[in-house]
Amino acid sequence: MKKKILVSACLLGHKVRYDNGDVPCLDPRFLKWYEEGRLVHICPEVVGGLPTPRPDAQRQGNRVVTGNGNDVTEEFEIGAQATLSLAQTHDVALAILKQDSPSCGSLFIYDGTFTDNKAPGEGRTTELLREHGFEVYGEDQLDEVEQRIAAIDVQ
Ligand code: SF4
Repeated sequence: MKKKILVSACLLGHKVRYDNGDVPCLDPRFLKWYEEGRLVHICPEVVGGLPTPRPDAQRQGNRVVTGNGNDVTEEFEIGAQATLSLAQTHDVALAILKQDSPSCGSLFIYDGTFTDNKAPGEGRTTELLREHGFEVYGEDQLDEVEQRIAAIDVQ
């Protein structure tokens, strides 16, 4: 059986983003994996107990705070742990998570200044998944994902 792929729920069209929106990934490869029933989805922030819509949040070191100064580190941690548990339960091959998010980003995240600047970094969920050996890619890295999936499928 082909191994599962963990994905951000917002990439599948679930309206779970802080602004009540989604960011559906319409790449034919992503849609094919969906049709094959391989995608396992989660929104770490919603699972962590945050509402939708919710205030924009950014990482500041090991903390996560909203633009109006609320500390939401605990909710982000709960969501990250739940995502790790889901990945382990399904023994996923890898994860495709939404780039730039303080939970799901894998190459860049907003820099914590709430000035629209990004910096190299990863979201808390991505960080935890990687600490446990999972490969995490952004939706803008599907060429790499396609190669990795092809290699995993022949194992
Ligand atoms: Fe999408 Fe991840 Fe943000 Fe949830 S936490 S809305 S899945 S980017």
